[in-house]
Amino acid sequence: MKKMLSTTLFILSMLAFVSACIAKDKLFCSSQILANRTDIGFTWTVVSRLSETLKNAEQRYGERDLSWTLLGVEFSDLKQPEVWYPFIKDNRKHIIIQLTKSASKNEKEALFQLSHEVIHLLSPSGPKGSSVFEEGLASYFSIINLQKLNYDINPNYISEKKYRQAYQLIADLYKNFDQTEVKIKQLRHQTEKMSDITPEQFTKAFPGLGKENAILLAKKYSEWDVK
Ligand SMILES: [Zn+2]
Repeated sequence: MKKMLSTTLFILSMLAFVSACIAKDKLFCSSQILANRTDIGFTWTVVSRLSETLKNAEQRYGERDLSWTLLGVEFSDLKQPEVWYPFIKDNRKHIIIQLTKSASKNEKEALFQLSHEVIHLLSPSGPKGSSVFEEGLASYFSIINLQKLNYDINPNYISEKKYRQAYQLIADLYKNFDQTEVKIKQLRHQTEKMSDITPEQFTKAFPGLGKENAILLAKKYSEWDVK
């Protein structure tokens, strides 16, 4: 009886393995999802990479807002990655990072998307939407975090022109001012959400930034028309 049970369990587990690796459209067979046991733990997946990426983001830009509960990372059939607030209408501050289907089979793309979305975790803007500054910082961090992980990557990897321009606004802050990250941390202490930082606050933190740029950084990303 015991032997029969263990044989059945063995066959079932083999079947589960086979179906996970054949039914690629239903269950992705990917190293981004499947954690393989190693001598010291498990292979990296997007979930374990999230810890490292979040640590890097918090070191640079300050702690995340702990009133939000991060539920995890999932893959969706959307064209763009995003953070999703699944129960916001019930006033539950829960958040899910959604990466694209193509990222489930491409480690570099998955980490690139994950790094971008991690910046949105620091102070989730909710349905109000994020500012040009927040999207720029997310785009900037997605490049420097992958470079830190030894990926060959440069800003041209950012496919959308608008995100590339947002990236450039933050790259210019780094280029033109000292202690940019200290200043960003200080700015974050002045508002509840990163996307609520005002043009006046940007000008005070970065003297010489120019009124036009300060207004642009504070603008809602969705309201920004890129020429
Ligand atoms: Zn974003």
